[in-house]
Amino acid sequence: MGLVVQKYGGSSVADAEGIKRVAKRIVDAKKNGNQVVVVVSAMGDTTDELIDLAEQVSPIPAGREFDMLLTAGERISMALLAMAIKNLGHEAQSFTGSQAGVITDSVHNKARIIDVTPGRIRTALDEGNIAIVAGFQGVSQDKKDITTLGRGGSDTTAVALAAALDAEVCEIYTDVDGVFTADPRVVKKARKIDWISFEDMLELAASGSKVLLHRCVEYARRYNIPIHVRSSFSGLRGTWVSNEPQGDQQVEHAIISGVAHDVSEAKVTVVGVPDKPGEAAAIFRTIANAEVNIDMVVQNVSAASTGLTDISFTLPKSEGRKAIDALERNRGAIGFESLRYDDQIAKISLVGAGMKTNPGVTAGFFEALSDAGVNIELISTSEIRISVVTRADDVIEAVRAVHTAFGLDSDSDEAVVYGGTGR
Ligand code: ADP
Ligand code: ASP
Ligand code: MG
Repeated sequence: MGLVVQKYGGSSVADAEGIKRVAKRIVDAKKNGNQVVVVVSAMGDTTDELIDLAEQVSPIPAGREFDMLLTAGERISMALLAMAIKNLGHEAQSFTGSQAGVITDSVHNKARIIDVTPGRIRTALDEGNIAIVAGFQGVSQDKKDITTLGRGGSDTTAVALAAALDAEVCEIYTDVDGVFTADPRVVKKARKIDWISFEDMLELAASGSKVLLHRCVEYARRYNIPIHVRSSFSGLRGTWVSNEPQGDQQVEHAIISGVAHDVSEAKVTVVGVPDKPGEAAAIFRTIANAEVNIDMVVQNVSAASTGLTDISFTLPKSEGRKAIDALERNRGAIGFESLRYDDQIAKISLVGAGMKTNPGVTAGFFEALSDAGVNIELISTSEIRISVVTRADDVIEAVRAVHTAFGLDSDSDEAVVYGGTGR
């Protein structure tokens, strides 16, 4: 008997109808002779609504209580899903992350999984149950507090359980038919990818393609768990993400895998920094001590007359306040003139292993943006990715222009978006 882990995102269980529809799919997988573990997200936009609620009560809610609040969303959906399955005449039991053995560090709001000890899940399966696990949450090893894994973290729960239970596959069910060459909400002509390597998927995820979370892909690569991303609304085969294509998985020999965009970041500019050794170190140590992750960094050439320079970096908007407060507190010690905060930016990235060996990709990318009249503010590159920061207003036009310029537009069908609000 095979063991499959299936994860259903919030849009797939947005209402009672969605929960009943998903329950049928799960029962079908069980009837096909599998042991089935299901990881479920909070219904629809519940997590966002809980965050809004917390912010009305306190502008910077304490991490521990915030996590306690957010994990309630997944508890609702897991219990309802177990009820819906029982109603179809099958046995199901729901478990919180803590009960499922998801052990994390104690960094609230973005905890990392340290260990998974799914003893109770194994027992439930051996007794003939379908096991339903609340995604996105765990319990900290030292303090035994409830933690969350960061936005979109149910994907990581699913892969971590798949690895711990030695599952054959981790199926991620969502509101689109798989991983596309761009977000189908933005590019109707985006093409579904049949197979993509962990390497390219990691870069797409890191660049904002939220169909899969970066940490989840990292985990899957480390434990070599193939992921099948597909729609919970259609019966279509989706996208396989793995080390090597298997069987009839089609490999496109395109130079570019896709275009990703991200509007969740902001840009901080530290103005008037003395151009001497140790300044960048002091700034980024301050940011690191505040437990803020940064993305792109750019330092300008200093003006000869003043010996001062500017350093800009990007970070998640949700961490902007923390970073600014930490820098302000250390302004005397670091010695800069002022701070600028800009949350009207977007990041657009082109990803593909083929760019390593194809000169001209960078030029083609910049030309496409220039033809679309889009101004570039920051640039960063890796071996298989080029990213730029632009004005947030330009993002849709920029993504479409780049997608077309690299020949990624599909000439047949339009990409379908079955649900979700895109929030
Ligand atoms: P879920 O609720 O199932 O976790 P998410 O909203 O987290 O769903 O992720 C699915 C969404 O990811 C899609 O609706 C789509 O708008 C977005 N997306 C962004 N980039 C891509 C891409 N390259 N391929 C497919 N979907 C993408
Ligand atoms: N419910 C959480 C979120 O919206 C986790 C998830 O859906 O993966 O971020
Ligand atoms: Mg998601």
